[in-house]
Amino acid sequence: MVVNPPAVSDRLPSPGWAAAPPEATMRPAATFPSYGFPQASSMRGEIIAIGDELTTGQRLDTNTQWLAERLTDAGVTVLYHTTVADDLRANIDVFAAAIQRADVVVATGGLGPTADDLTRDALAAAAGVPLELDEDSLVKIEQMFASRGREMPERNRLQAMVPAGARPIPNEHGTAPGVEMRVDRPDGTACTLFALPGVPAEMKPMWTDTVLPAVNALHPAPRTIRHRRLKCFGVGESQLEAMMPDLIAREREPLVGITVHKATITLRMTASGADGAECLAKIAPTEQEIRDKLGVLVFGEEDEELQDVVLRMLRERGERLATYDSASGGLLAHWLSQADVSEAFANGEVCPPAPLGADQAEKLAEHTRLAEGAEYGLVLAPAGGTQEVPSIIVAVADAERVQHNVFPNLGHPDIEHDRAAKLALNELRKRLMPGE
Ligand code: ATP
Ligand code: MG
Repeated sequence: MVVNPPAVSDRLPSPGWAAAPPEATMRPAATFPSYGFPQASSMRGEIIAIGDELTTGQRLDTNTQWLAERLTDAGVTVLYHTTVADDLRANIDVFAAAIQRADVVVATGGLGPTADDLTRDALAAAAGVPLELDEDSLVKIEQMFASRGREMPERNRLQAMVPAGARPIPNEHGTAPGVEMRVDRPDGTACTLFALPGVPAEMKPMWTDTVLPAVNALHPAPRTIRHRRLKCFGVGESQLEAMMPDLIAREREPLVGITVHKATITLRMTASGADGAECLAKIAPTEQEIRDKLGVLVFGEEDEELQDVVLRMLRERGERLATYDSASGGLLAHWLSQADVSEAFANGEVCPPAPLGADQAEKLAEHTRLAEGAEYGLVLAPAGGTQEVPSIIVAVADAERVQHNVFPNLGHPDIEHDRAAKLALNELRKRLMPGE
């Protein structure tokens, strides 16, 4: 049964104004600008989060983050996160834009029965079709109310309306069904939209039960995406990037992304393939190239931190470490004692900042080692003496030698302690490396 578009459609500026823009503005997917893998080879995605609560900052939009991870895992390249208020005109604009620029769109929110729930109207207007009553959905909604011993308010009838040609998505945990809709573009390609409720407990099962299988079915061939991370320490992000300009290029597969967090740099390699094994086989040569280029700068992989690596090396050798720290606010000992393998950590002395000269630092490293009967003594302190800029000193002692290094305090004050503790761990790591 086709019903008249609801009253809200009267508020549209002019009928069909939001239908597809003129053909001249359309770009076929194949020539759409590509910003690197996997855009070139996969579907472009957009997530639309709807609600005044979100745009006014009263609620954090966690749905988008949740959906983005899952769409990415499903092989969709999410190009846009859009957040929009409960405003019909703005919603129509957003959907119309998404229909043009994305192949898969997942919207959350605005499916309820109240006047501010506009998603159905906006979808219909953006696609240039009327809303129709879906009898099955209406029966389900009526049953839902009946099972709770309540009569269905007339407003909830609106929740059984779907844009013509669209398919309702069952919602086992609430009244509002979702909407799945395909909009054809003039160039022969299409955009598939999924509208889900904002309530996370309703949205998540609907994603799993209906949307994910539908997204998988949209792929021309099943694709799997795999990531691998290499962790680096010891240079700045831009220096590191300059060491391997070809690898960071946006147009390559595997794609190599670079992020920095508290002085640790992560290189994330991403490849797509028919299965996990094919992805990892594509990643392997790139990983080797990075390791060859960066050498000692690469300290670990995936979630590994410097302390994990250092403690593992010590344990393999059956050796132990004692530390003295007056420059990281205790972070060094904290990390070492919290690590999975902390039996190689003998003791950590933590003091307020107390500058040390080179001789003092080296003597203290030796003393720290001997006092605990450990194989290694590690000292971290503000550098005393006549440095041009405030600096820290790191000294490492073992049975054969004691050495120190001075590092200027670069970087943001917020990460000073993290960087100091990492510098100390990295000095020890280098000492423990084969050939040292
Ligand atoms: P309802 O039928 O409950 O009205 P709805 O689809 O209309 O569902 P909204 O009214 O937009 O959804 O949101 C309902 C509730 O869901 C919000 O009050 C909020 O608690 C939660 N919610 C909505 N959007 C998000 C989001 N993006 N991230 C996290 N929580 C959200
Ligand atoms: Mg609502």
